[in-house]
Amino acid sequence: MTYAIPAPEQACVPVTGSSERFPVHRIYCVGRNYAEHAREMGGTGREAPFFFMKPADAVLPVAAGQTGEVPYPALTEDYHHEIELVVAIGQGGSNIAAVDALHHVWGYAVGLDMTRRDLQSQAKKQGRPWSISKGFDASAPIGPITPAAQAGEVARAAIWLQVNGADRQRSRIDQMIWSVAEIIGHLSQAWTLQPGDLVFTGTPAGVGAVVRGDLLEGGIDGLQALRVRVA
Ligand code: MN
Repeated sequence: MTYAIPAPEQACVPVTGSSERFPVHRIYCVGRNYAEHAREMGGTGREAPFFFMKPADAVLPVAAGQTGEVPYPALTEDYHHEIELVVAIGQGGSNIAAVDALHHVWGYAVGLDMTRRDLQSQAKKQGRPWSISKGFDASAPIGPITPAAQAGEVARAAIWLQVNGADRQRSRIDQMIWSVAEIIGHLSQAWTLQPGDLVFTGTPAGVGAVVRGDLLEGGIDGLQALRVRVA
């Protein structure tokens, strides 16, 4: 078998302490998974988790100790950061019970769900899809994936984002409305999860705009930090 055109390159992410890379299958994202952020986006209380997707090749992988260059995207004047815990799926499945869910996790990383907020607000008003506001090129900067066994107690870790050295977002993973296990449970009812899937688990309060030249530094206790500059 030969392809009619050259096959696309496999999107992948560095792995902490290894020369191996993690191949990306799909990118799922959870909306409004921290109560304070849900409120800042106009929501109320605990609603069932909802999901959207980014293309696999929207990842912008950043190696340990490096500063990634994220291009300021076209069509927006309100380009927002959302710092998030990213879960890397190592074992697929459907209808995964929450009690078994963590066995399906290969590792964790720090990611940014970059958002064209003005386009997202328009889409919400018009009842249109979010793809253009969430799934654009380089919309998913991500640091190295740390294997779960080496990642420490992610469920209780602090999560933060600084822009040009000043705090913008700071919370704890235990403030998530839906835990990693619950997210995997819900997701796997709607899609068959596959090895290589990434799940962006939602962002805490404090989302805001960045401009060209800004330096974004995000972290989660026990994981490699993520540093990118808006170019
Ligand atoms: Mn998000």
